[in-house]
Amino acid sequence: MTLEARILDAVAAGRDELVELTARLVGFDTTARAPDDPPRQEADLQAYLGDRLTAAGASVDIWEPDPADVAGSRQMPPGLRFDGRPQLAARFAGAGGGRSLLLNGHIDVVPSEPRDRWTSDPNAAEVRDGRLYGRGSCDMKGGVACMVYAAEVLARLGVRLRGDLIVNTITDEESSGAGGLAAVRHGVKADAGIVPEPTAFEVWVACRGSLTPTFTVTGRPGHAEMAQPHWRDGGAVNGIEKMAVILDAVGRLREEWRGSPLQRHEHLPPGDIIPVKISGGEWTVTYPAACRMTCEVTYLPGRADAEGWGRDVEAEIEAWIAAAAKADPWLAEHPPLVEWDLDIPPAEVDPSLPIVQTMMRATERAGRPGVLGGLDSWFDAATFTRFGGTPSIGYGPRSIAWAHTVDEYVPVDDLVTCAQAIALAAVEHCGAAE
Ligand SMILES: [Zn+2]
Repeated sequence: MTLEARILDAVAAGRDELVELTARLVGFDTTARAPDDPPRQEADLQAYLGDRLTAAGASVDIWEPDPADVAGSRQMPPGLRFDGRPQLAARFAGAGGGRSLLLNGHIDVVPSEPRDRWTSDPNAAEVRDGRLYGRGSCDMKGGVACMVYAAEVLARLGVRLRGDLIVNTITDEESSGAGGLAAVRHGVKADAGIVPEPTAFEVWVACRGSLTPTFTVTGRPGHAEMAQPHWRDGGAVNGIEKMAVILDAVGRLREEWRGSPLQRHEHLPPGDIIPVKISGGEWTVTYPAACRMTCEVTYLPGRADAEGWGRDVEAEIEAWIAAAAKADPWLAEHPPLVEWDLDIPPAEVDPSLPIVQTMMRATERAGRPGVLGGLDSWFDAATFTRFGGTPSIGYGPRSIAWAHTVDEYVPVDDLVTCAQAIALAAVEHCGAAE
């Protein structure tokens, strides 16, 4: 029996174990939390995986990063600490002479609200009709279970890889990417990486970055039920109506990007700018003195600056908004304020890289067609690719389209296929010493 057939059989025979592992992970409450929220069960989950991976023969490192480890990055929220947010890196040492492989997954999940709409408890996994239900089953505790199980099966079969196999589970992907960056700065690194996010078995080679501008427009308060003189004569100016100028400019920029050759990518949609929050006004009988609007901006890898960040996109947006403001007499003299929140950088890898081709072959052997794709949003592969020297792809069970939903689930068949494909990819990439 070939090694490939032994791997496929062993994972298929371990179906119930794989379900049990996924269910255990769903059972830990690792809901994403704000910097100041108290710890949940992140440490318990990491300790559980650490014990399993140690038993499988890995040397396991679990650590709470120092805040200084991620300081100074445009991606990091100020004041983030890692108390109760341990990261894990488990190394299966290779025999030598092969390429190393990183398997990376995030353990945090989005909140389960509204919980009362779930058919079953989101933190108590339940299998119904071949689907495992629970928060994180799709994004991405299912994928984490697959990569851990793939490593365990290889160990159990006595497969000695030539290159190192590193299993890395991290926190804070759903909020900022702090766990991934902390891992990179801790030295977690390999010749290539696989991140089993729910890609519907596509091999993701690209993702977009994001920026979050907030525009503040000032008006001038006055009695809203009284006729007003011209603003040059001291009359009131409606801050909300002045924001309409900015709102219109944002819509025109979006259209501009949709038609621009700079905004084309084989696996990603064009960059986008979407108003997501707006507030203004102080009193029902008063002209609003100000209005604030926040937008969510996504940008393509090709729009990143030389260091990989979105500074050029920021400059383009500021110039566009400034031009629109100049055309309005009030805004020309009272220019809108633009503030920038975090910069989440985009990334892409060359589809001709060995890891991409290896993953395409592995998924075909596990019974799913090899298809290249990209993620419209962002995931941790970007951090490892950009800052860690580890070109990384996405490949995993179920589809990101069904992440973050009520009654989130992963098909059990998907788990089996994914674990098979990852195990095969590890053997091909790292080489088998036997
Ligand atoms: Zn995810």
